[in-house]
Amino acid sequence: MQPPPPAPTSTIVTAARVVLPDRVLAPGWVECDDGVIVAVGEGELPGRRVADGWLVPGFVDQHTHGAMGRSFEDTSVEAVSEAVGAMHARGATSVIASLVSAAPDALHEQVGQLADRCDEDLIAGIHLEGPWISPTFKGAHDPEVLRNPTVAEFEELLVVGRGHIKMVTLAPELPGALDVIAVCADRGVVAAVGHTDATFEQVEAAIDAGATVATHLFNAMRPLRHRDPGPIAALTEDPRVTCELIMDGIHLEWPVARLARRAAEDRLVLVTDSMAAACVGDGDYMLGTLEVQVRNGCARLVSNGSIAGSTLTMDAAFRNFVNATDAPVPIAVRAASTTPSVLMQLRDRGEIRAGLRADLVRLNDDLELQEVWRGGEPVTG
Ligand SMILES: [Zn+2]
Repeated sequence: MQPPPPAPTSTIVTAARVVLPDRVLAPGWVECDDGVIVAVGEGELPGRRVADGWLVPGFVDQHTHGAMGRSFEDTSVEAVSEAVGAMHARGATSVIASLVSAAPDALHEQVGQLADRCDEDLIAGIHLEGPWISPTFKGAHDPEVLRNPTVAEFEELLVVGRGHIKMVTLAPELPGALDVIAVCADRGVVAAVGHTDATFEQVEAAIDAGATVATHLFNAMRPLRHRDPGPIAALTEDPRVTCELIMDGIHLEWPVARLARRAAEDRLVLVTDSMAAACVGDGDYMLGTLEVQVRNGCARLVSNGSIAGSTLTMDAAFRNFVNATDAPVPIAVRAASTTPSVLMQLRDRGEIRAGLRADLVRLNDDLELQEVWRGGEPVTG
């Protein structure tokens, strides 16, 4: 079938394989106009070369702390622009900014300022990772500022966040946690179980109260044991839960990633959990108030050697997931784009479909990043 002639202002993107929600066009094309996908079709267009590789929807990173030497604790326009600019160039066309645990006043201020950055469309939302987490599985969070969750503090943060707080990671075994999870469920905020020492039963209770995400499954949670199944068994087996994976080969060994895929293939989200060193390289950095050293791409706290976030980018996470777990590319697309956009309530993106935002990533046959478009505009690194 001959496609209608494109509008004079529109852009056409072609690829040997275009991944749609329900099938792969081989080859295919996407027409974008005014930042939006206006048409999608199969086959070759007269007079247009078909680009090689895969065209997939822009990635949505729902868990990242920074990049380019910048951390989201620095909430200035300049810092946030630099960090997300580098992420966009690596295919993450939507970014949820994660804040680590902080004292009440500092957190209040950071949330208020990041809400401004959301209004400016620099970031697509805010993720509070803590401060309501377990001291036993604090990871790279400052133990001095950890505290029990209260509905009162959460309600205050929701007010300063002006609808931009999309997700909260908390430990469900803490007193008050189930009440805060219930408020999350009521207000459309994702309650994520993480940095937790909870038992299997405590996590089940959290899911019943409304928790729907596992924050970086396996990392910073009570481990899986054959007579103490804990969070990992509860989170992977419950169909109401989506599990984040950090696919950098440091946070998870590949056989564990394969296990996660077999357990919850259609309920996975690829996240970077990246910190300031992402897109920069080895060096000395700060994560919140804590010193971090990055050596050979691995970020660790100076104080105790804990892994302190990653230097992963979404394009590498995508490639690693396919290569390490042998997942078909459409399964990876679901985990890197579609599922996180649904979770973060970004209903205008996450798939290649007419009417959605023209956020597109082209990868070559080896899944290496070639080109990125955000809102129909080419992104340059
Ligand atoms: Zn994190």
